[in-house]
Amino acid sequence: MADYDLIVIGAGPGGYVAAIRAAQLGLKTACVESRETLGGTCLNVGCIPSKALLHASELYEEAHSGMLAKFGIDFKSVSLNLDQMHAEKAKAVGELTGGIEFLFKKNKVEWLKGHAAFTGTNSVEVAGKSYTADKIIIATGSSVTPLPGVEVDQKVIVDSTGALALPKVPKHLVVIGGGVIGLELGSVWRRLGAEVTVVEYLDQILPGMDGDVRKEAAKIFKKQGFEIRTSTKVTGATVKGGKATLTVEPAAGGDTEMIEADAVLVSIGRRPNTEGLALDKAGVAVNGRGQIEVGHDFQTNVPGIYAIGDVTPGPMLAHKAEDEGIAAAEFVAGLTGIINHDVIPGVVYTMPEIADVGLSEEEAKAKGHDVKVGKFPMMANSRAKTNRDTDGFVKVVADAKTDRVLGVHIIASLAGTMIAQAAQAMEFGATSEDIAYTCHAHPTHAEALKEAAMAVQGKPIHM
Ligand SMILES: Cc1cc2nc3c(=O)[nH]c(=O)nc-3n(C[C@H](O)[C@H](O)[C@H](O)COP(=O)(O)OP(=O)(O)OC[C@H]3O[C@@H](n4cnc5c(N)ncnc54)[C@H](O)[C@@H]3O)c2cc1C
Repeated sequence: MADYDLIVIGAGPGGYVAAIRAAQLGLKTACVESRETLGGTCLNVGCIPSKALLHASELYEEAHSGMLAKFGIDFKSVSLNLDQMHAEKAKAVGELTGGIEFLFKKNKVEWLKGHAAFTGTNSVEVAGKSYTADKIIIATGSSVTPLPGVEVDQKVIVDSTGALALPKVPKHLVVIGGGVIGLELGSVWRRLGAEVTVVEYLDQILPGMDGDVRKEAAKIFKKQGFEIRTSTKVTGATVKGGKATLTVEPAAGGDTEMIEADAVLVSIGRRPNTEGLALDKAGVAVNGRGQIEVGHDFQTNVPGIYAIGDVTPGPMLAHKAEDEGIAAAEFVAGLTGIINHDVIPGVVYTMPEIADVGLSEEEAKAKGHDVKVGKFPMMANSRAKTNRDTDGFVKVVADAKTDRVLGVHIIASLAGTMIAQAAQAMEFGATSEDIAYTCHAHPTHAEALKEAAMAVQGKPIHM
């Protein structure tokens, strides 16, 4: 008899959700986590603390910049208490990680504290003790990809974890990497008063997103004061006297140049956590990118060993990990888990927010679709106009023959909320006409999605 029906390794959004679902389904479940608190990257040093700082810094910028004066709201003086901002962030993180601990107790999931390493196909060692299980789910997540020549010291040169805890606002922050995390954390420090330069190797920011979105987003960020240097690579960094000097050159090669910074954020991506797991003891294979490949039921090449979340291929997103956690636990329990990897929304929580689901126009064409595109600017949406937040647009990409929606791309203050409707529509196989004929409450930002869907047939009303 094994000690457990299931051991889950890692208590991030993938692992803790899998463990809770397995326990709900009656399996005797343990979850191994080496951090002091549950919740993984997402709750401790990812989604939650970054959103806490994005929210607080947005409030500060609104109050500080005078942008509320047009609404008749005048401030005599506004000052920043960064320590309090960090304290409120820590409080939110503490409440949420504590909440997972409560859920573990409620569902009788046992937390095995420590680092897990395989000792066989059905066994792991944690803190010097050996545990066996009929099934094991690997949910070890990911960590920051290092950039050769730019060593993170978490003081001047930081990764995302360090950038969530800077003790003072840097005068000049250089963000290496114009992806989601760099732009979100760059936004935080820009709003709090830093000059922010984003250095991106590719010719545009936000790799992987729809071409129109990438262009418009760059325009908006520049308008907000970001300096964006695309097609540029950082080749080295030195730190002296609390300042960094970065060596940069054109991505295609050419003259080098120096950039001085008070802080540097390295955010060039994340890589799967498999080191120290002793995967070889169980015979679990990784691909060329270090990820654990899985089948439709989340089993690895070793039957009975499953993998989910950031350690597997696909977008590194908390909700992808969570949904895979539920599906994998259901497979482990002998049920059929369901997740549609074609409909996983992604959100950049800047202001405006940027959100997408499904295929970009470029991807749809590359897959051989004849596409029809409908676009509607937030400038023509009555609620956005009233709220004075008219940056952005909604773009619906539909198949020209069937009208089925292939992708939706939104830049708008509420894009992260609006995208849920698009994801649900796509999950139900909606056509653009289905969205266009769905009654949307007025006045809402969501009406822009309806109008963009109407624009697929060339017939929006308010444009
Ligand atoms: C700054 C930042 C902001 C982000 N914002 C968002 C966002 O807004 N929305 C979103 O969807 N995603 C966001 N992400 C990504 C998101 O955090 C990840 O996609 C998500 O956490 C992945 O979940 P996971 O369960 O696969 O792994 P993780 O959350 O990384 O959890 C894995 C856990 O496993 C533990 N572990 C690893 N190896 C072992 C071992 N051998 N033994 C025991 N424990 C082990 C780790 O300590 C960790 O706690 C953000 C990430 C960062 C860094």
